[in-house]
Amino acid sequence: MPKSCPAGTFCGRCDQPIRPGEPFEARDILSPSSAGTTVYLHKNLCVKTPFQAAPQLRS
Ligand SMILES: [Zn+2]
Repeated sequence: MPKSCPAGTFCGRCDQPIRPGEPFEARDILSPSSAGTTVYLHKNLCVKTPFQAAPQLRS
């Protein structure tokens, strides 16, 4: 039974907030220059945030 993610956690992939109770995956990022960071990702495959804005419909 996975623990609930901390409040205010954002997905490291799609940059969207992970809601309490939403399936997520915790991934430890080990860094030699820091104590290490835990990145949270949506358990279900979310889409990585595109850098370009969505096309706007012209009126
Ligand atoms: Zn996500």
